[in-house]
Amino acid sequence: MGLFHDLLFSNRDNSVKQYSENYKKLLDINNKYDFISIPNYINIEENEFSLKSFNDILAKQIIMYHIENNDNNFRDWIESAIHNQSIYQNYVSEINSLNYKTPIESINRTNYNSEKFYKIEKSIINNTIYKEDVFKIKVHVYVYRVNRNYDIKNRKDRVVYFDELISIYNEWKNNKKYAQTSKKERKLMNNQLKDEVLKRDGYKCCVCGKTEADGIKLEIDHIIPVSRGGQTTISNLQTLCNECNLKKGIQDNDLYKEKYNNNVLKQKLIKFRKERSDKLNMPAYYIFTNDELDKLLDLMPKTLEELKQANILSNIKISVHGKEIIKAINED
Ligand SMILES: [Zn+2]
Repeated sequence: MGLFHDLLFSNRDNSVKQYSENYKKLLDINNKYDFISIPNYINIEENEFSLKSFNDILAKQIIMYHIENNDNNFRDWIESAIHNQSIYQNYVSEINSLNYKTPIESINRTNYNSEKFYKIEKSIINNTIYKEDVFKIKVHVYVYRVNRNYDIKNRKDRVVYFDELISIYNEWKNNKKYAQTSKKERKLMNNQLKDEVLKRDGYKCCVCGKTEADGIKLEIDHIIPVSRGGQTTISNLQTLCNECNLKKGIQDNDLYKEKYNNNVLKQKLIKFRKERSDKLNMPAYYIFTNDELDKLLDLMPKTLEELKQANILSNIKISVHGKEIIKAINED
């Protein structure tokens, strides 16, 4: 086949190309749309030394890493594919509206009758149209577990199709700012800064007040987490014990502190209720129900005025018991 086949068909195509109106229009449209040439199949290989990381690593993480580093123009290709995709629908509708009839005199100048001419034209056009390949990048991720001599011990692979690739790209893009900031912020933490924070906080947990003498470990915590734009500055750092730090997790600092304080307050009020009812044999309505306790906590009463404003306490003689409540709240 080879050369003879190519020659035969290119000759056949050339005479049709020369006279086909649709083909000329198609070339114009192709020129108008600036599709960027990209590979539609990309292989990525990743070596892992430990079995655990081999098992744990996800195709998504590997892809994100390559996007981040733009390895072998990986990110450029994805962005080109997104560009191509964004103009592809318009391109297709222009192509679909191609409906030119080549004049019969022109067709007669080729060696074909109309039927054959249009058949060849159709095949030429099909071969000249940009296919969805211009954006349908597929990524084949191969992961190998290797030993120190790079002998392959295990392998796994997965194909990531375009839609998933784009959602990974978008996730990377959305987190990019955060990733850069958090990397930068974590680098700013140093021993000198840690010492300053510990000293300022009196070597105590800022939430529960425990010290290392209580058997906990003191840690430095970002009050506004780095993930929410918190900075590594002395004003955004606090000392927490490992227990409080663990409980705080990714919760908002204020929210956590409030919850913690509410629990402490609640315990104090329960203690107060119990002591008073035990010692003074108080009438039932002076003894808070759990509902009342919750409402009290919502109010976070600090003054008698605040207590008076709480309807639930309308039955309580504020002057006497109110003071006791405040005292109970403020007692350490
Ligand atoms: Zn603590």
